[in-house]
Parts: sequence; C-alpha cells; structure tokens
Amino acid sequence: MIYAQVHLTLPAWVHEAVDANAVYPDDAAKVGLAIRLSADNVDLATGGPFGAAVFDGEHRLIAVGVNRVVPHTCSVAHAEMMAYMTAQQRLQRFRLNEDGGSFSLATSSQPCCQCYGATVWAGVNELLIGARAEDVEELTEFDEGPLPADWVGELEKRGIAVRRDILRDEARDVLRRYGESGTHY
Ligand SMILES: [Zn+2]
Repeated sequence: MIYAQVHLTLPAWVHEAVDANAVYPDDAAKVGLAIRLSADNVDLATGGPFGAAVFDGEHRLIAVGVNRVVPHTCSVAHAEMMAYMTAQQRLQRFRLNEDGGSFSLATSSQPCCQCYGATVWAGVNELLIGARAEDVEELTEFDEGPLPADWVGELEKRGIAVRRDILRDEARDVLRRYGESGTHY
C-alpha cells in the first residue's frame, strides 16, 4: 500500500485557548503566547512541551503550532513546523514574506536542527526564542540535533533577526515540569 496523503491537525483546544484577534505588541507578548501553548499542550496531553506562533508586521496572530509528533506518528510535527505550515496554508504562500510583509516566528524553545532548516525557507524576518537548546537538553531527554556553529549569523545573513532568552525562565519552567513528570512525547 502506498500512502498518498498526510493530515496534520492542531488540538481542538487551540480555538478556545487563543484569541485570534488579539494584538501581541512586543517580543514578550509573542513568546509568552508560545510558552503558554507549550504548557497547555503538556497539561492537556496533546503533544510535547513546545509551542510556537507566527505574527505579521502589525503584531497580529497568523497561526499557532504545538508539538504533535506522538499523536500523529510524525517526526516533523514540531511546534515551529506546525506554525509555519498553518500560516502558509492560511496565507496561501509557501514563503510568508514574499509579498514584502514582515513576519515573526515566536517559539518557546530554540528551534532544533529540523526547525532551524525550516526557518531558512519559511519566509520570516524575525525569530524570537524563549528557552535555549541547552535548557531543552538539560531539563528533558530531547536531542536538539546539530546546528551550524554560527547558526544565528547564518540566519541574519538571510535577513532573519534572532532574539533569544525572551521569558527564558518561564519557558524553562514548562520544560522542567515536563521533564519531572516522566511523560514521554
Ligand atoms: Zn523542531
């Protein structure tokens, strides 16, 4: 048998948990939403402890993502990938900023090597990060994979500004709680 399609979904609770019309004026508001999604995803047992969101240049929410690897038996279903894919479907553009607009990805934890690669092609202008990769590896069993030594510089060369350690302690708290829970997603 040859499977010819893949269907990925966000949990139904995102419609209740996220105000789609709110404005997220600064980096803390954007990453704060990603962290809240990461916590809810653990609490509601719908995936791993990671959340992400895409915003446009007017600070409006375009899409959200949470980790869905285990529920979907799909190793690419990381929070950042889900946010990029749902944003691209909503705007019907595979490169979000090809219209000349400005887009940001906010993520509860630094992108792994897969999501780092996706960030190069997704068409965002800013990458806003909560916890660092070393926080993920210290507090959970996840492997973040290899990145270029100058991974920030490689993004900045491609027009993607990187800002880190935004609400880092809050993001670490979710990872710690997940790590101590003994749950495996
Ligand atoms: Zn990832």
